Amino acid sequence: MSEGKKTAREIIEGYDGPAVRIMEVCGTHTHEIFRLGIRKLLPKQVELISGPGCPVCVTPVSYIDEAVYLALEKSVTICTFGDLVRVPGSKKSLADARSEGGKIHIVYSPADAEKYAKEHSEEEVVFLSVGFETTTPAGCLSVKKAKEEGITNYSMLIANKTMPQAYEALKGSADIFLYPGHVNAITGTKLCEELVQEGVSGVVAGFTAKELLTALAVALTHFQKGKPFFVNCYPRVVTEEGSKEAQRLVDTLMEACDSEWRGLGIIPGSGLRLRDEWGMYDARKKYQVPKMEGRANPACRCGDVLQGKCKPSDCKVFGKVCTPQHPVGACMVSGEGACSAYYMYGRE
Ligand code: SF4
Repeated sequence: MSEGKKTAREIIEGYDGPAVRIMEVCGTHTHEIFRLGIRKLLPKQVELISGPGCPVCVTPVSYIDEAVYLALEKSVTICTFGDLVRVPGSKKSLADARSEGGKIHIVYSPADAEKYAKEHSEEEVVFLSVGFETTTPAGCLSVKKAKEEGITNYSMLIANKTMPQAYEALKGSADIFLYPGHVNAITGTKLCEELVQEGVSGVVAGFTAKELLTALAVALTHFQKGKPFFVNCYPRVVTEEGSKEAQRLVDTLMEACDSEWRGLGIIPGSGLRLRDEWGMYDARKKYQVPKMEGRANPACRCGDVLQGKCKPSDCKVFGKVCTPQHPVGACMVSGEGACSAYYMYGRE
């Protein structure tokens, strides 16, 4: 990236425009920007704030309660990504459930969970399906495969979410969104382009140092012009239409529903659930999971962190009571969480 002879880094370091708040929608961006030392290049008036793009972080406490209920009351085997095991529920985490005899099995993909169910036909197996547009297709594939293979002991507890509605809900929180490239690879860029009409500016960013510096430099250059803008700075992966194949797969199995986001509350139409014809793979229906209220630790400010309203270091228990070894909230547990990034790389 160059503007005249300037490199992206020079544009960022030399920025002398108005104060600007840039939201790292994606937790991976937060971690990479810290890890690569990019924060140190930013002039004072450029503020980076965290957003809601860490799937484990935005999953509400009530979801953990549902998973604990399934493990302890229904004796199902929970297959899950490792991060979710230590996220506190209202009373217990899945780690607590495991110490009380619950069967918690760590997997690296929904396909692993489906395979586990196939190989353990004597167990009832539930995969904890959380994540955004990037991970949802793999969950759908696992359900499709289970149906093709006649597997009846596999289902998913679904908390998958879609980003567009979150952008709408967060419209006033930042001057510029740093859109997550891997999500846009699936969804395309149409929605981001449409948001410009509503005054929302943003750039799609990749994940390497060069891609992140380019995206930030482009964002700052456009911001100074004073008009809403959108630029796809990750064109080697992101196209306007996205992945039609993934979109078709998800649309075949799932439909939109309202969804609760930690800190943001219920955002209409921002969640996904299996369509009725796939209902036998929906753990909530299969095991008649009661509605859980979910109460977070009152000291935890994950909700504010996820909306960019405060920095992790503004939380009173950050780094004291709450550490990666003893997390109080989801943002300290997850490898993509903002609190964990601040703890690992800096305490600004
Ligand atoms: Fe929650 Fe811990 Fe982050 Fe505070 S530091 S907001 S308690 S995760």
